[in-house]
Amino acid sequence: MTYWRPHPAITAVIYLFAIAFPIAIGLAVVGSSPTLLAKVPEEHRDTVAAFGDGAARMSGSDGGIFGFDDAHAANTTVQGLPLPSHGEWSPRSSNNFPPPAGLIPGRDFSVETTSSGLIAHWPCGHEIPVRSFGAPPGSEGDLIWAVETLAFASGLSMHYAGPGSDDQRDAEGAISVYYGDHPMFVDPQIAGVGGVSTYQNGLAVRGSVTLRPDQITPFPGDPWSRSLTLHALMHAVGIDHAMPYGPEVMAERPGYPPPTILGHGDQFALHMVGCR
Ligand SMILES: [Zn+2]
Repeated sequence: MTYWRPHPAITAVIYLFAIAFPIAIGLAVVGSSPTLLAKVPEEHRDTVAAFGDGAARMSGSDGGIFGFDDAHAANTTVQGLPLPSHGEWSPRSSNNFPPPAGLIPGRDFSVETTSSGLIAHWPCGHEIPVRSFGAPPGSEGDLIWAVETLAFASGLSMHYAGPGSDDQRDAEGAISVYYGDHPMFVDPQIAGVGGVSTYQNGLAVRGSVTLRPDQITPFPGDPWSRSLTLHALMHAVGIDHAMPYGPEVMAERPGYPPPTILGHGDQFALHMVGCR
């Protein structure tokens, strides 16, 4: 069924979020000097939401977060979009997800919505491969852990599909996880970025994550690597930040130790974008 298919002329809405992990904590995990920490400015870049042309420009032409050459490239993705069957995907509104007692939107959880207020989310009943690109030694186990944690908690059919090939970069219907540079990393406090590209109705087209390789320790199971990876992947399924230093994995800034267990707000956000 294609009743929900957006008009091809509609430019995909692109969300791009900085993962504003303070580098001080990252350095603290791997060991650092007070001199370096003192240089970290108090000002930091908060969530960045970029749309259309702006996001395309920000992505750069070197395989940035979405790797679009220009905004029009987004339109061409309609052709290859995986088409869920009837009932597998439909627009969702936040109004249909009253939070349980004790959880406050914006404080404990937040999900990404389009300009018309529809929740960005992936289809249910479709496999969502998560592929890595340029993964440093020792990182694979933590990526698998993060993917399986999200799949279990959300009901989304996510699975780790191993290292991707060049023609799978930014593939539609998939989440691409890059380890490497990103234009936003000019801000030394940003350890990674993640986002989801959607149509105006909220249907996810592709997810993308870029992590700083030097923020991923070579020792599997490291809480910092795990928290960062999980946080970034949650952006790729449409989840926005909870309040800084709170107990959620999606805290805008992580507490210490960095959270690796999903908080109540995280779990409710995953319910909103998930399949159960
Ligand atoms: Zn973030």
